[in-house]
Amino acid sequence: MNVIGKVTVLPQLPDSVARLSELAYNLYWSWTPHAQALYQELDYGIWERFQHNPVRTLLEVPQSRLKEVAADPAYLKRYAQVMADFDAYMGKKDTWAARNVPDMKPVAYFSMEYAYHESLPIYSGGLGVLAGDHCKSASDLGIPFTAVGMLFHQGYFTQLFDKDGWQNETYDELDLTTLPITPALTQSGEEARVSVVIGNRTVHSRIWNLNVGRIKVLLLDTNVPQNSPEDRKLTARLYGGNQELRVQQYVLLGVAGIRALRLLGIPGDVYHMNEGHAALLGLERTREYVEAGLDFRTAVETVASSTLFTTHTPVPAGNDAFGYDLMDRYIGSWPAQLAASRDDLYALAEHEQMWDGHPVPTFSMTVFALNMSRAANGVSELHGEVSRDMWKFLYPGAETEEVPIGHVTNGAHNLTFTSQAMRDLLGTVLPADWTERLEDEAMWQAVENLTDAQLSDVQLVMKRDMITFVRGRMREQKVRNGASAADVAATDTLLSENALTIGFARRFATYKRATLLFRDRERLSRIVNHPDRPVQFVFAGKAHPADNPGKAFIQEIYKVSQEPEFRGKIVILENYDMHVARHLVQGVDIWLNNPRRPLEASGTSGMKASFNGSPNFSVLDGWWREGYDTTNGWPIGEEREYADLNVQDDADAYSLYHILENDIVPRYYGQATGDASWAHTVRRAIETCSPRFSMQRQVIDYVQKYYVPIAARGAQLAASDSARAREIASWKGWVRQQWPHTTLSAQAALPATSQPGQTVPVTATVNPAGINLTELRVEAVLNRAGQLTHVPLTSRGDGTFSADVPLNESGLYSVGVRMLPVVDGLSNDLEARLIKWA
Ligand SMILES: *Cc1c(COP(=O)(O)O)cnc(C)c1O
Repeated sequence: MNVIGKVTVLPQLPDSVARLSELAYNLYWSWTPHAQALYQELDYGIWERFQHNPVRTLLEVPQSRLKEVAADPAYLKRYAQVMADFDAYMGKKDTWAARNVPDMKPVAYFSMEYAYHESLPIYSGGLGVLAGDHCKSASDLGIPFTAVGMLFHQGYFTQLFDKDGWQNETYDELDLTTLPITPALTQSGEEARVSVVIGNRTVHSRIWNLNVGRIKVLLLDTNVPQNSPEDRKLTARLYGGNQELRVQQYVLLGVAGIRALRLLGIPGDVYHMNEGHAALLGLERTREYVEAGLDFRTAVETVASSTLFTTHTPVPAGNDAFGYDLMDRYIGSWPAQLAASRDDLYALAEHEQMWDGHPVPTFSMTVFALNMSRAANGVSELHGEVSRDMWKFLYPGAETEEVPIGHVTNGAHNLTFTSQAMRDLLGTVLPADWTERLEDEAMWQAVENLTDAQLSDVQLVMKRDMITFVRGRMREQKVRNGASAADVAATDTLLSENALTIGFARRFATYKRATLLFRDRERLSRIVNHPDRPVQFVFAGKAHPADNPGKAFIQEIYKVSQEPEFRGKIVILENYDMHVARHLVQGVDIWLNNPRRPLEASGTSGMKASFNGSPNFSVLDGWWREGYDTTNGWPIGEEREYADLNVQDDADAYSLYHILENDIVPRYYGQATGDASWAHTVRRAIETCSPRFSMQRQVIDYVQKYYVPIAARGAQLAASDSARAREIASWKGWVRQQWPHTTLSAQAALPATSQPGQTVPVTATVNPAGINLTELRVEAVLNRAGQLTHVPLTSRGDGTFSADVPLNESGLYSVGVRMLPVVDGLSNDLEARLIKWA
């Protein structure tokens, strides 16, 4: 039809169910199936058709139906229970934070994407799920926390396969009145607006408020009439445009995001940048301090001391970097606003890269984030190592292991991904308050009390749900693509509830190697078509719209799934989102992940599967390298790096088939007992992974390792008009200027051989130039089989330093001597980035 206008007619809720609307506007329901059931019961068709969206369901359901449930005693009873639970959750005083960090300072968390629920499609994949889950657990734990992000009004994209299995993307304009968001209001009750200058335009954003349990999320939206048509599209699509659009989105997130917090009077003592997308918040915070009278360097010290940066990208090319000319176009006015030169500002982001065969300085978001923070972390132990290695060039002279990038291993929000059936079962053996103590490893041992039959019954329920879901989705796809009646009918028999079912779903980035399984099709066919012990596979995942190799992987799987020998036994589902993810992690028997090590920074979907008793079968990369304990799932391949990717793929594929045939399949089909039995593996997966990879554990780690110390240090540096920050800034300026004039020479009287426990005398002679001798650390560095020990030399006050350095073990030692400038109040010894080796 020809639309001339639109109007939203708001529902009139009968008094007895009036709070359905309030609840719809708090994503508490997104991890509370009983709460969702209240809306689903209103109208199952509407609920399914509109992505399980309570706000939309209330809008669409006939007024008569609302009257009906308002008079239905059974419904009202369930309603009362959900509301009581909701009120108890929202009003809870005795939270983890209240008990453990009662005076915790507020955290402001910035992320480009958030995945809370399929009905709010402002995410693309794992990064968004991680950010969304982080908010949910921050709420559960009761920590003071506000998140800032973007309202993408066309979302990421909807993925549709054509009849040849090629991915097409569609973008639908979201109708904001159907989302669980409300305009954020200023103290005086006005709709909040912030503006930022991008290039030579003033771009206005409105701010939406989203409630996630106890915490708030602010979402920026430039789709307002004051903006030009192009600027209205700045928040249209996530990761949709070219580099130009990306930079502008980063300016918005960082700068407008900080302004939104200020306008609404929301405090932040710690700023957490989730990935380099958020790095430009450092610009605005620095500007605030400069405007208040600080010089640029002091402002930067103050800002950085209260900022944490989490990096997620273990591949150099995955880290955004932009040409200086491009940055000039969009942040050209910032040096002046910061009372800095362009060189000073860009030096904080400089990453020299080869472009067209020439070394070119680029503005790297990751480098800027590392320089605008004084704490940084990767997202698993291995990813921490990889990150230290990737960014060590920023710390010339440092050994890789001392590069100040730590790690917090990711987790997932248990309740969001655990089925109601499994939650009910867990409730029979875990204590009543188990959902509040998810990180408690000892508590989870009670899972041992679940019987084999209890587990297999619940898993069958989940698997049937999943199969029904898969069949429905495949039918829709076939009908849309004009398949024959026979093909459509065949979707009714896809997958068998009796076959071992393996799930593989994630973004189709090529390093995730979705097609590794197909390296030896004959062998795969024997596994799938075994007469007594069949195996079936369910795939899903989106490729980035510009990633043709990723799309080719999807098509390859689709084509295999159409071959007679694999029909109905290998399926690939469209439009992987949180809804599909929940069905798969709950319904499959095991979860497969075979990325090219070490490129999976963490991965989280295998955690979600483990929560539901589907053990993980994965390359020992990311979280699984820490999670796998020989009893709770299976490894693929070896813990090593390969020079030749083809060799790596062959070795990993071989390992995958071998373990599947010789361990997993026989175990699933009951050919192993005791500790080798299937149920034992399932129990171990649940009890080991649920606490250790709970988002609750992750957020507690962030609080203890980063948020609390950063708040303290930030306050110290900012106190008395940033007095300490000023001292550190001017000290750094001074030592940097003096450094080229310093000299260091060292002697060690090393015998040809020595014995364990002997010492060797080491002396060094220093010309400190203008640097105070007490501010130089001179140390011997011992390297024994890659293990480093640092032994400080004692100053004799005359420019010489010495120590008797112990060689405690037998073995080959290399001995070096270096000096570095240190002063009280630094976040770490390498902070001045000056190291001189003798
Ligand atoms: C959990 C999840 C991801 C991330 O999975 P990985 O294991 O990190 O690849 C991506 N998309 C959705 C919808 C998810 O639920």
